Amino acid sequence: MVEDIRERICDSKRVVFVTGAGISQESGIPTFRGKDGLWRNHDVMKLATIEAFYENPRLVWEWYNQRRENIFKAHPNAGHKAIAELEKYVDVTILTQNIDGLHQRAGNTKVLELHGSIVKTKCSVCDFKDEITEKFLEIPPRCACGNILRPDVVWFGEPLSEDIWNNAMSIASQCDLLVVVGTSLVVSPANRLPIYAKQNNATLIEINPNNTEMSSEMDAVIRNSSATALPELAAIFRNNTIEN
Ligand code: NAD
Repeated sequence: MVEDIRERICDSKRVVFVTGAGISQESGIPTFRGKDGLWRNHDVMKLATIEAFYENPRLVWEWYNQRRENIFKAHPNAGHKAIAELEKYVDVTILTQNIDGLHQRAGNTKVLELHGSIVKTKCSVCDFKDEITEKFLEIPPRCACGNILRPDVVWFGEPLSEDIWNNAMSIASQCDLLVVVGTSLVVSPANRLPIYAKQNNATLIEINPNNTEMSSEMDAVIRNSSATALPELAAIFRNNTIEN
């Protein structure tokens, strides 16, 4: 199917990737809805909410501390690296739902973190924000104002930063090619980004071993893992650059 639209792919100057947990699965970071989706017998979907945090901030912080340690041990995989390579040939922006920072570590320079970052913290009350650079002395950690700090991530039911979301919508609306990778597209509003692109005549590709609710809207669907499919996509742009 990709062969059918090779010319449109090669003509694309502004390329956007909408990525989700699946792209980091081959780096050893579990997805939320996959078979590894349980942690200490807790439903992770119920740990990533403000209600869970206020009910048991220690448990939620322990979960994030463990996830952060795992993420620090992980490395960008061939999929992340292929998107980084694409910066040599085209204008690439990544709109990621991931909080793991692996796109930046792979070398991508334009990454919008729609759901925040696992290495950042913010006060649950005042405007204080900080990077997490060392182990906390107490859990939950406290802000200088006396209130507890929380991970600077967007939890289920919370709104995205207005600035980041407006920027993401505008970037998706102006691209020539939008590639959706490793996301179940069930989390709103990120799942609307392919629709904005399509309304503006962008070509849509999905890379996911499984079907999603938007698969039927795609111009091409690659039913493969991202660490296999993305290097193949990068090769199309590389060969096109060499030929021209
Ligand atoms: P999800 O867990 O709902 O869906 C993962 C998707 O990835 C599935 O559709 C699955 O078929 C696909 N997938 C699995 N392995 C893949 C592979 N090797 N290659 C390509 N695709 C693969 O994830 P989501 O849609 O990103 O939504 C979950 C939310 O959880 C997001 O908001 C995200 O912030 C958060 N989350 C982030 C991380 C991370 O930062 N790495 C990890 C888990 C969850």
